[in-house]
Amino acid sequence: MLSNIVLKVSHSVLSSMKTHYADDLTAKLPTGAVFCAKRNGCTITAYKSGKVLFQGNSAEQESKKWEQDSLPSEKKSSMSKSSVLPSGFSSLSVIGSDEVGTGDYFGPITVVAAFVRKDKILDLKHLGVQDSKQLSDQRIIDIAKQLVHTIPYSLLVLHNEKYNELQKNGMSQGKMKALLHNRALLNVLHKISPEKPDAILVDQFAEEPLYFRYLEKEKEICKENVYFQTKGENVHIAVAAASILARFAFLREIEKLSKEAGFTLPKGAGSIVDEAAARLIAEKGEESLNYFAKRHFANTEKALRLIK
Ligand code: MG
Repeated sequence: MLSNIVLKVSHSVLSSMKTHYADDLTAKLPTGAVFCAKRNGCTITAYKSGKVLFQGNSAEQESKKWEQDSLPSEKKSSMSKSSVLPSGFSSLSVIGSDEVGTGDYFGPITVVAAFVRKDKILDLKHLGVQDSKQLSDQRIIDIAKQLVHTIPYSLLVLHNEKYNELQKNGMSQGKMKALLHNRALLNVLHKISPEKPDAILVDQFAEEPLYFRYLEKEKEICKENVYFQTKGENVHIAVAAASILARFAFLREIEKLSKEAGFTLPKGAGSIVDEAAARLIAEKGEESLNYFAKRHFANTEKALRLIK
């Protein structure tokens, strides 16, 4: 989708944008422009007036990073149920959290919270930390192996047996995620104490009131300075780092499970997954799904039908 998006920002935001795009500035400037940069197929042109033009395939994605910092009038999204962030958010010291595996039939849910102090942001960029959806599995493994020595983090793994038990007792996946995020965030807060982050950013999977309703019965709730944003990895690098570590852990778990299964367990929840589940049932019995898979997914029924 090729699009043009215009935001109007203050001078201070303009200058933090220039810093943000420092690696991608172009030499030539259109008349009246303060800077021009090209990133991820998007051309960003900023003008003295405070107008910033985003052009190209990823214009929407790129402009989203700054939407919260922009001044009213030009473009205000109506779906803004995410938190309003403090300005210059991307350069603050932040604990970010994200989860992986919620849509995968095989394998656990992994959740990671990670702390990136502002003086580490550049190091992480150089390590190649970015949106994990744009990275190959091998690249994720390479980056994660360095990350684990670079930043404080907490990894939680919700294995299938436990997941299936909670699910059977009526707990929603949303609640499981909320409990895991909360626990991981608290773990990191304890780890870095007495230091405190400027903010905490949860990659948003539920609206804020619902998230905290899920946590109602928890003894300890991480609530201070917590913000929610969808596509959080584009908002602060701490979420991107958490996402890479969570995916790394998920890949490791799937590999372990594949070894135990005796063949590669595919990711996702498509028809290849149905076939693999059918094979598992044939070779190890239906009960084995409790250990390998999120049993309530439709894949279980489909696999059973394949066998008959
Ligand atoms: Mg997420």
